[in-house]
Amino acid sequence: ADSYDEECDYLFKAVLIGDSAVGKSNLLSRFATDEFRLDSKPTIGVEFAYRNVKIGDKVIKAQIWDTAGQERFRAITSSYYRGALGAVLVYDITRRTTFENVKKWMHELREFGNSDIVVVLVGNKSDLTQFRQVSEEEGRNLAESHGLFFMETSALQNLNVEEAFLRMITKIHEITS
Ligand code: GDP
Ligand code: MG
Repeated sequence: ADSYDEECDYLFKAVLIGDSAVGKSNLLSRFATDEFRLDSKPTIGVEFAYRNVKIGDKVIKAQIWDTAGQERFRAITSSYYRGALGAVLVYDITRRTTFENVKKWMHELREFGNSDIVVVLVGNKSDLTQFRQVSEEEGRNLAESHGLFFMETSALQNLNVEEAFLRMITKIHEITS
């Protein structure tokens, strides 16, 4: 996945947010390099990955930032959000508190993010059906009430991951071109 040097028509930044251990880093590694890790790797400091996406005859380079663990200390700073045109807000369908905290993440986005930021709400770990604590309908309703896109994903089984990122990227492309 070394698309770093390819020509691109647009470059934009998007961020991953959501509680610790909901699967943000694995969603990103799936999307960027098609990898999944069973262990989480809570390093400190911002990391990001690139992926080129072709829409029509344009190549868009999406630069997606991952928190690399700061969310644990509620220490994500405004620089993380600066210039971001998109956000993937993730909760874990097996941990209700991560869904309840979506409200807090929305506040933070409103405070630090662009006012017209494109947000996709993602309920991750859809493979763990027997441990589900948040129904798909609740997720969809919450997204609708905030005007967000919505998708349930499994980074483990690689379900809907591509779709979630592409929905955001396509929408950003629509409003910026
Ligand atoms: P982050 O803290 O939000 O970046 O979460 P990680 O990507 O580090 O994932 C936290 C834990 O959840 C790890 O043990 C992952 O293996 C696991 N995990 C992530 N996504 C999924 C998923 O879709 N399904 C299942 N079953 N486990 C997942
Ligand atoms: Mg992480």
